[in-house]
Amino acid sequence: MNTKAGISCNCGQRIVTKDVIQKGQYPRIFGPNFIYVKFRCSRCKRMGEKFIEQDKWDEAYLREIPSEFGGDEKKNFDRLGPITIDEVIDFHSSLGAFNFSDLDPNLEKS
Ligand SMILES: [Zn+2]
Repeated sequence: MNTKAGISCNCGQRIVTKDVIQKGQYPRIFGPNFIYVKFRCSRCKRMGEKFIEQDKWDEAYLREIPSEFGGDEKKNFDRLGPITIDEVIDFHSSLGAFNFSDLDPNLEKS
């Protein structure tokens, strides 16, 4: 069995959640249970299936940066880091005049 993290098609394409057709447990009376994954490769379009020992299974095997939130967009978010209070204040300021102390009394103390 392939010991490297993740599931791969025979063609070498990595299998991710969107390629999975069916996933389930395959219980055995003796020995470890298995996780059964049936997939359709996104590259060669062939069907395949894998059995992985439940002990060794990790949902992360199927995880990959989803296409709708991947690549540059993801990198941009990483670079921006967490939102700072200055950014929040800037945002509120951009909304126009308002009384900041009415919004959250605790902010006055900081
Ligand atoms: Zn393939």
